[in-house]
Amino acid sequence: MATSYAPRTGLGALSVSIPTPVWLIGTTLLALLAIYFIGIDQGAVSVFGSDMHVHEFVHDGRHFLGFPCH
Ligand SMILES: [Zn+2]
Repeated sequence: MATSYAPRTGLGALSVSIPTPVWLIGTTLLALLAIYFIGIDQGAVSVFGSDMHVHEFVHDGRHFLGFPCH
């Protein structure tokens, strides 16, 4: 007796459908968080207190993107 395995083709059976507004809102929130942590969080008004950890962590990326800091 021969058995054969024929896997389903295509990713349609496995894909999860996420509505477009959810993508837009999620992408916008992530972009705003990135802009905040890279461009605005400078220690004086940091969400983690008045230290420079976030600023130093993203410092090179900050200069790469053209944000001034010193
Ligand atoms: Zn700098």
